Amino acid sequence: ETASLSAAQQVIQDNLDYTLFSWSKQKGIAPIAVKHAEGVYLYDYDGKRYLDFSSGLINVNIGHGNQRVTRAVMQQMQEVSYVTPGCVTRARGELGKKLAAIAPGPLNKTLFTTGGAEAVENALKLARLYTGRSKIIARYRAFHGASYGAMTAGGDPRKLPHDVQQVPNIIHVEDPYCYRCPWGKEITSCSRECVSHIERVIEFEGPENIAAILMEGESGSSGCIKYPPDYLQKVRALCDHYNILLIADEVMSGFGRTGRWFACDLHGVAPDMIVTAKGITAGYLPLGALIVSDKIAAYFDDKVLWLGLTYSAHPVCCAAAVEVLQIYEDEQLVANAVTMGRYIDEQVARLQQQHPSIGDFRNTGLLGCLELVKNRATKAPMARFNAGAEEMAVMNKVAGKLKQLGLYAFVRWNYVFIAPPLCITRAQVDEGLAMISEAISIADEQYEG
Ligand code: PLP
Repeated sequence: ETASLSAAQQVIQDNLDYTLFSWSKQKGIAPIAVKHAEGVYLYDYDGKRYLDFSSGLINVNIGHGNQRVTRAVMQQMQEVSYVTPGCVTRARGELGKKLAAIAPGPLNKTLFTTGGAEAVENALKLARLYTGRSKIIARYRAFHGASYGAMTAGGDPRKLPHDVQQVPNIIHVEDPYCYRCPWGKEITSCSRECVSHIERVIEFEGPENIAAILMEGESGSSGCIKYPPDYLQKVRALCDHYNILLIADEVMSGFGRTGRWFACDLHGVAPDMIVTAKGITAGYLPLGALIVSDKIAAYFDDKVLWLGLTYSAHPVCCAAAVEVLQIYEDEQLVANAVTMGRYIDEQVARLQQQHPSIGDFRNTGLLGCLELVKNRATKAPMARFNAGAEEMAVMNKVAGKLKQLGLYAFVRWNYVFIAPPLCITRAQVDEGLAMISEAISIADEQYEG
């Protein structure tokens, strides 16, 4: 017992002494030392169990520790671990074929990257190459990755400390944030000012200069801002009208997360390109993908595709993805996301009656977010967008309580995300929501309504 305790401390100390932590001050971090993980649970060195209500970084969609993936990876390693992207492997071809089958209509060819940001970078470059235009329209409440281009395209405040002149010609528009509509409208009676706003920006910027509109298939880490039912179709129509490409960032919303293979399927919209990552391997190995339409692919039949990476189509990552996609099907995980998502909706509706601090809950499949407020009438947030440490005091207490109770959850500003692995059961949902209910009582105490 004592030996394992000191092993835990050693693990944590080595990490704190010799490694850097993302998006944080380095002092005062108290990481969980994960010894093993299985299904929806993480276990630390002391045997404490955490229910993973954020699927890692909303990527471990099939759950942790699936040995089928381990075996597929080992087998690929034994056959061939690496070849240049100019050579081909069975895994790469099988994965490409499978993606063509599940992606919307005309999206049938894929360029593989090592993660989401790289897929976004390549999509931006490709859009500019293909259209000969340079401007990209993207949204403020969006995160597209942490490389320069992807970060510039996003509006997430994590980019602000870097905000010197980043990648040029990226223009931002407002979001269809219906709970806090920027135009003060209600979804039932508005004229989709969120769409006419985009059209005005297109006209101001000159349609002939705009290569693409980039937006998440379904909003993720910016608060699961749900699109009005016809929003994406209207954006698609704008793109068609002005000959602009539509790029759907399905890094977080892809692979069953929203109850469909891709979130754009929910809206009946086929983009010109999909960028994706995360759920493609469910986090077992790093892989990203840029899936393009037949028309775009054909353009490069006679023109050079000026894109490439050492680890493009890494055979072992592709083999992991092939197996992971098979697991989604064998375990009917996409259907389970729908069932469990509906169950969560019902249960959170009950929580909303008990907890005045729940201002809004937005969920699609298993991509959900609670928004905590100090007052339901004024919608004053428990912590504002990009809140500093002081303003985060209550939310940090909520997060600390969740951790203490054994829930691994993603908490940002006044948001608590509910995005468990797609293999979650009803009993496990109940277990997680009970912990959330207990923790947000802390926020209720601050309620001013
Ligand atoms: N796009 C979206 C919508 C994301 O949520 C993320 C990561 O959270 C990314 C892109 C970046 O992916 P990666 O971290 O693999 O570069």
